[in-house]
Amino acid sequence: MYDKRLPDYRKLISTNRPASSAKSKENKPKWKGIVGESYSPEEFENYCCSLQWTGWRPSFIVLHNTGNPTLASRPNGYTSEHIPNLVHYYRDQMRWSSGPHLFIDDRQIWVFTPLTLSGVHSPSWNALAFGVEMLGDYDAESFDSGRGLEVQKKAIAACATLSSVLGIDCDTMRLHREDPRTTHACPGKNVHKSDFIQSVKDLLVERNAGGDDAPENKH
Ligand SMILES: [Zn+2]
Repeated sequence: MYDKRLPDYRKLISTNRPASSAKSKENKPKWKGIVGESYSPEEFENYCCSLQWTGWRPSFIVLHNTGNPTLASRPNGYTSEHIPNLVHYYRDQMRWSSGPHLFIDDRQIWVFTPLTLSGVHSPSWNALAFGVEMLGDYDAESFDSGRGLEVQKKAIAACATLSSVLGIDCDTMRLHREDPRTTHACPGKNVHKSDFIQSVKDLLVERNAGGDDAPENKH
């Protein structure tokens, strides 16, 4: 969730901004650019396998929900027309160097901030973690049925891919609201961390269970 009324992100930017940047005329960090492409879970897996994390290498995942927009306000999920608006928000309004890495809706996985660069999404953990945004307000909208369930499935698939490609332990996943430096209740209460992590683990087992390696499946 992002909310420009809340000051925690701004504090982070002001304390983390390099001195040289702080003195610049524009007083705003250099925008890192975006990918702006959408992928099915399978395509996302292939895409991540093509990347090399030679510079920034994250060690865990932070899960978010967008809050606003809600699922209801995006009946078709995100479209390519929404992406420039997100850039405008993070780059021009918030004046951040980047945003979250992924925006996941009920249809696809959008890569926003390049996965090989740090993003801006959770004050304490930007340097350490991927930021994964799920479209929806899961205080009010269902996460276990309908479109919310589709978002959940794609988020589970994306987190499984990021975990396996980078060797991230699923149990290290955190929710934005666990960040001591945020006041955001993000994601909403309908997102249960332990259930989500277990689903990621289950999917990884399922993906890795080749027929020849699982003789018990023959029965
Ligand atoms: Zn959040």
